[in-house]
Amino acid sequence: MSQQVVTRFAPSPTGFLHIGGARTALFNWLYARGRGGTFLLRIEDTDRERSTPEAMQAILDGLAWLGLDYDGEVISQAARAERHREVAHRMLGEGTAYKCFATPEEIQAFREEARAAGRSTLYRSPWRDADPSTHPDAPHVVRLKAPREGNTVIADHVQGKVTVRSDQLDDMVLLRSDGSPVYMLAVAVDDHDMGVTHVIRGDDHLNNAARQSLIYRAMGWPLPEYAHIPLIHGPDGKKLSKRHGALSVEEYRAMGYPAAGMRNYLARLGWSHGDAEFFTDAQALEWFDLDGINKAPARFDFKKLENLSGRHMAATDDAALLQELDGFLAATDRPALSQEKRQQLRAALYCLKDRVKTFPDLLEKANFILDERPIEPDGKAAKALDSVSRSILGELTPQLQNANWTRDNLEAVANRFAKTKGVKFGKLAGPMRAALAGRSATPSVFDMMLLLGREETIARLSDAASGEG
Ligand code: GLU
Repeated sequence: MSQQVVTRFAPSPTGFLHIGGARTALFNWLYARGRGGTFLLRIEDTDRERSTPEAMQAILDGLAWLGLDYDGEVISQAARAERHREVAHRMLGEGTAYKCFATPEEIQAFREEARAAGRSTLYRSPWRDADPSTHPDAPHVVRLKAPREGNTVIADHVQGKVTVRSDQLDDMVLLRSDGSPVYMLAVAVDDHDMGVTHVIRGDDHLNNAARQSLIYRAMGWPLPEYAHIPLIHGPDGKKLSKRHGALSVEEYRAMGYPAAGMRNYLARLGWSHGDAEFFTDAQALEWFDLDGINKAPARFDFKKLENLSGRHMAATDDAALLQELDGFLAATDRPALSQEKRQQLRAALYCLKDRVKTFPDLLEKANFILDERPIEPDGKAAKALDSVSRSILGELTPQLQNANWTRDNLEAVANRFAKTKGVKFGKLAGPMRAALAGRSATPSVFDMMLLLGREETIARLSDAASGEG
């Protein structure tokens, strides 16, 4: 009988939601959701000094934007400290952990002696096998009784079989002398209690897996499956850093990438399915598997992100795209669209969305709708409106005045006019774009004329012809 899949994302709320964290969350989400499983969110907030409510909010906002919904309530690791202690005490009772009364000075002395003698400096506590009747009434830590013989093996879905020799693992501290549980204990206990079946996380945690597995073993708990994903690198092959560009999910949102494009890109960042580059969420959910995770670190490729982003903008239906645009405007403190502009933009999306990569791009291309007269031409457009062009526009405008406002007819009028002037229509298009949009890269002039309507078109052409705007 196949087991119900449970995955989790376990970020530490100490800053923003890192793009690598978002990818980890996405992999866990895809794996669980693609199998009818459960995806949980645990906030690893045990470092009280560094954990902030703002960072917690950034995680929630980032996940919400990416559409990575989790099941149930957010689990706070710090709130579970009592349970972590309870497990350590059970281990004490069962003899898989012991009280260690060594002072920091004694441990220090042990290490120095070991170093001088060329031995391993991993601490070997004399209290490991001490008779409890000899225990002093003094501060102590609780240590795990790690196996001294053999190996600890993690069968990792990405890294393969990872073997750690027992002589490389010390009797790690589970409870500090103030009784507080250590991180490693908290993770193992939480994952077990949450019923996590698959731990998918960054490979910076690979060494922790061996240690955590010792806690599972001591408690007689079944070990989850592990998949440690290589960290993301920059285009130059070095670990992704600020130098390469934005690191936080929030910044990508502010740059105006659509969430679907971001999901597609992040899914491809270290995972592949044949040679599929562009895919839908439904396909990702169907295809995602641990076997497709690459062993070599993925390199962040901004061009690819842009490309996928553009393809998702084009593939999104108009209503959804507009709704996402509203969210983008709000998130970046830009003014919301008026009802009228929103409707006009919606009507224009058919000739805009295939050509844009991001929401700022869309706004720029939609300039002819969003701007009001007089249209301010940018540098390039201004050049297209020299005096000759302006006078040609001055002659064309009256001919459009009474034209039947259909695409066929407008094309016929414009072509006829070009012919009488002895120029190709292309010659007219530049000044017309400049007059209608104030830009040189726009949708076709006929699309713009139809979308703007007769009155507005004539007014803008007249403005340009008379040198206004
Ligand atoms: N809190 C850890 C991190 O943010 C993740 C721990 C885990 O996934 O086990 O890197």
